[in-house]
Amino acid sequence: MPDQTEDLNILHARHGRYPQADSVEDFRRNLAAVQQRIVQACHRVGRDPAGVRLLPVSKTFDEAHLRLAYAAGCRLLGENKVQEAQRKWEAMTDLQDLQWSVIGHLQTNKAKQVARFASEFQALDSLRVAEALDRRLRILDRQMDVFVQVNTSGEASKYGLAPDDVAAFLEAMPAFPTLRVRGLMTLALFSADALRVRPCFVRLRELRDRLRHCAPDGVSLQELSMGMSGDFEVAIEEGSTVVRVGQAIFGARAMPDAYYWPTADARPPIEDTLLSITPSR
Ligand SMILES: *Cc1c(COP(=O)(O)O)cnc(C)c1O
Repeated sequence: MPDQTEDLNILHARHGRYPQADSVEDFRRNLAAVQQRIVQACHRVGRDPAGVRLLPVSKTFDEAHLRLAYAAGCRLLGENKVQEAQRKWEAMTDLQDLQWSVIGHLQTNKAKQVARFASEFQALDSLRVAEALDRRLRILDRQMDVFVQVNTSGEASKYGLAPDDVAAFLEAMPAFPTLRVRGLMTLALFSADALRVRPCFVRLRELRDRLRHCAPDGVSLQELSMGMSGDFEVAIEEGSTVVRVGQAIFGARAMPDAYYWPTADARPPIEDTLLSITPSR
């Protein structure tokens, strides 16, 4: 699909602008710059910036850089691969108030690990995973905040529920009392073009607004997790309450995005794929 390749190129060019953060000072500056952009986006649409949470995404960066981010004030980090997240968590248990948010697709056989170390899971998209997580969490006597991932782009992406399936999915959630549903999460269309990205965010908000009234007891749809380094301002304008930002804080990733959003010719083994947008085959 030439169209998609075009998008990838634009996105890479854009992300290439983000310099690596290599000191606490760098992280402080980048965090402040992102916060500033959040505030400006909020003001454009008359929102209170306190209603937008910044989730720094640390995937692919090493422990030393995560510790710098921590020193600069980060207390919750987003990771999208379970093994990588678990490895980092184990190495950093000395930082007792550091929490982990898993933002990538989860396979049932990894639910056990996630139940142990994550405080939040943002990519819930199947009842099997809900069941596996709930079973583990009960054993550990823990609870977890979860977001239901929705495919708003209509792309043949592997992960995320179709919008029409979300209502029934939420109906089933009370069966899993350890999972505290906080809201919906989405990845926009893979494009740097706001005209194409914005409708994805609008779709998630409208879906939330429709379902809010009929969500079962204990299921909250307060939160909308949408927006990344390249598009979080658009997402905020459309109602995002959680922005997941990696490169604008940590710097451009060495790993090509294709590793996380696989294309036909650069697809990692299925076992390693924890994220969510896969172009149509
Ligand atoms: C990597 C990732 C992000 C952050 O993307 P950046 O371009 O680094 O801001 C957000 N959400 C998910 C699910 C991701 O995997």
